[in-house]
Amino acid sequence: MVLTLYGTRGSIAVSNKHTKKHGGNTTCISVEAESGDTIIVDAGTGIRDLGVELLDKGKRKLNLLFTHYHWDHIQGFPFFTPIFQKATELTILGPSEEVSAEKALSYQMTRPYFPTDFTSLPSKITVKPLKKSITIGSIEIDTIVNNHPNHTRGLKFTEGKKSFVFLTDNELFAQDGKTPYEEFVKFITGSDFFIHDAQYTEEIYKKRLGWGHSTYGQVAKLASDAGVKNFMVTHHDHSSTDKFIEKNIKNLKKKYPKYKIEAAADGKTRKF
Ligand SMILES: [Zn+2]
Ligand SMILES: [Zn+2]
Repeated sequence: MVLTLYGTRGSIAVSNKHTKKHGGNTTCISVEAESGDTIIVDAGTGIRDLGVELLDKGKRKLNLLFTHYHWDHIQGFPFFTPIFQKATELTILGPSEEVSAEKALSYQMTRPYFPTDFTSLPSKITVKPLKKSITIGSIEIDTIVNNHPNHTRGLKFTEGKKSFVFLTDNELFAQDGKTPYEEFVKFITGSDFFIHDAQYTEEIYKKRLGWGHSTYGQVAKLASDAGVKNFMVTHHDHSSTDKFIEKNIKNLKKKYPKYKIEAAADGKTRKF
């Protein structure tokens, strides 16, 4: 499977000279299965670029998974051009514990916020609840409930003997969290690679307890406890400059010299 990052920013998209390297688009990744299936996760602003690429490649059958429906994970959806093509067959899977994906997207794509209603899109869209485990083509996807203010799921992708985990919008050590830290360690153990939310430094986190995000240090601890030495941090705060992100990665690498640690950036790709 091939993983490509299209949006790695948290809360709101940013575009300025200080965010050029890591990019300013909000969360969106794509996973291409060996079976040829396309799985997209989240529809942050990064999904706009992905939509253009998918149309160019002539990909018509698509799967879109939502971790949750906060703005930064849905705001690119109205600009995902495949939904305006009659030939597109899109299966949407999202948590339904609080609200269905259909309702969440309909709230966004309705007048006066947007001129086209979600229900009148010309593409063939099927909406299903995201269950604990699902299979799409050659990829098995397992989910875990994150510690975040609204119902959010983390995802593990497995194809043959390879697997990676995508956990964004998750507070690893949340007080009164839905999922204890040990469960995340278990969820990640045995995977080849993982991506985790590290919106804050340890210092900033002290003022953001309960906001549903983690720190650079906490994510490195998770890697160490799970024995997965290859990981990326994502959901960069909108106020974090490239310089600031790089400084934090450098500090982590000093503490964990044998680990392969990277900051997620729009355009990065990994093959498993
Ligand atoms: Zn977010
Ligand atoms: Zn969120």
